[in-house]
Amino acid sequence: MMHLAFLVLLCLPVCSAYPLSGAAKQEDSNRDLAQQYLENYYNLKTDVKQFRRKENNLIVKKIRRMQKFLGLAATGKLDSDTLEVMRKPRCGVPDVGHFTTFPGIPKWRKTHLTYRIVNYTQDLPRDAVDSAVEKAVKVWEEVTPLTFSRLYEREADIMISFAVKEHGDFYPFDGSGHSLAHAYPPGPGLYGDIHFDDDEKWTEDASGTNLFLVAAHELGHSLGLFHSANTEALMYPLYNSFTELVHFRLSQDDVNGIQSLYGPPSASTEEPLVPTISVPSGSGMPAKCDPALSFDAISTLRGEYLFFKDRYFWRRSHWSSEPEFHLISAFWPSLPSYLDAAYEVNSRDTVFIFKGNEFWAIRGNEVQAGYPRGIHTLGFPPTIRKIDAAVSDKEKKKTYFFVEDKYWRFDENSQSMEQGFPRLIADDFPGVEPKVDAVLQAFGFFYFFSGSSQFEFDPNARMVTHILKSNSWLHC
Ligand SMILES: [Zn+2]
Ligand SMILES: [Zn+2]
Repeated sequence: MMHLAFLVLLCLPVCSAYPLSGAAKQEDSNRDLAQQYLENYYNLKTDVKQFRRKENNLIVKKIRRMQKFLGLAATGKLDSDTLEVMRKPRCGVPDVGHFTTFPGIPKWRKTHLTYRIVNYTQDLPRDAVDSAVEKAVKVWEEVTPLTFSRLYEREADIMISFAVKEHGDFYPFDGSGHSLAHAYPPGPGLYGDIHFDDDEKWTEDASGTNLFLVAAHELGHSLGLFHSANTEALMYPLYNSFTELVHFRLSQDDVNGIQSLYGPPSASTEEPLVPTISVPSGSGMPAKCDPALSFDAISTLRGEYLFFKDRYFWRRSHWSSEPEFHLISAFWPSLPSYLDAAYEVNSRDTVFIFKGNEFWAIRGNEVQAGYPRGIHTLGFPPTIRKIDAAVSDKEKKKTYFFVEDKYWRFDENSQSMEQGFPRLIADDFPGVEPKVDAVLQAFGFFYFFSGSSQFEFDPNARMVTHILKSNSWLHC
């Protein structure tokens, strides 16, 4: 059910259709449109009074975020370009989710999937709908190991239907224009399903709303992909009527995205439609059960565990028994990859991410303003160029930073580095082998990761109680 929170109400007022008498009315109408848009697609919490107040920082931030995501000049103002984009037809799935309402983009745990066309639109002959869907399925089949077959009865993984307004899932459609369709991420029941707004004029060509294009985009969601900020991508949230529909191809961005979930097509299939340059098969992607696997950084995030490696991270959440595997950039586009360290400060609901002499603060999937900052602002001497690992003790409100064979301790209450540090890791954490790649606090223990080994350290007994494989957390 948590997935439902990710799909937001889709009833945008058709502001452009109102005859407006004065500039003030126009401004009000623009603000209404913008508020609705930001609530629907950018996770803005409803508060009308707040929105009406001028110079509201949060609103400006959201507008800027929307502008950045959709490739506009990031002015933070409701200029004419921004308002024009807000009026364009688009996918009903939001551009940003928030970790609390964003339960983990599960992927299908099997490679053979079924779909069923439950009903038809009056706009097109049935075989035109069938072939548009079939073509859309092929788009993804060609670049993944996934195969699809069509069912004519019973429940399929992906149930495809046409509906208008309220249609039984709490996300009513909005009549003609604006939201065109929506789809649910992978999972049982409603998950994976695609709903098309039948108040659109669905067409085979580009004269109305092209069914194939929207179906291909929504299928991307059904398979676990979110929106891309890349304007070339099929997963870009705005409807783009490609002029050359016949020669439609996925962008490299779409291919990278879907292959980060499922990998490239298996060797026996034909060559993929798009060459897979940036996600090489095999060596490029870390394998979670590789006995030699080490981690760059590990952190908790709101009760989940994040294991960072190269450009990727595994996410062990409460909602799925299997850890999920994602590109770091899919959650936090502005973060670097190949991280050094990460830790969460629960009391501030913030995860701090370190690379080189800089660090970032993230809350859910938002990188906080004012970052990156220099690590020396935390109190490290200028000789320290990078840190290896960090962990924050949730009860004691102390953060430990590990650098080669030493460690520093930072007091979260006073926000300052403590006196008397650095100290030797060997003196205070006997049995732990420097250099430390990552540290995690769980069940009253500290877990020190060093290469493919993991040391479970009991802080009360001041001793290592177990030595495990690093990837023991990933169900290997
Ligand atoms: Zn979409
Ligand atoms: Zn629906």
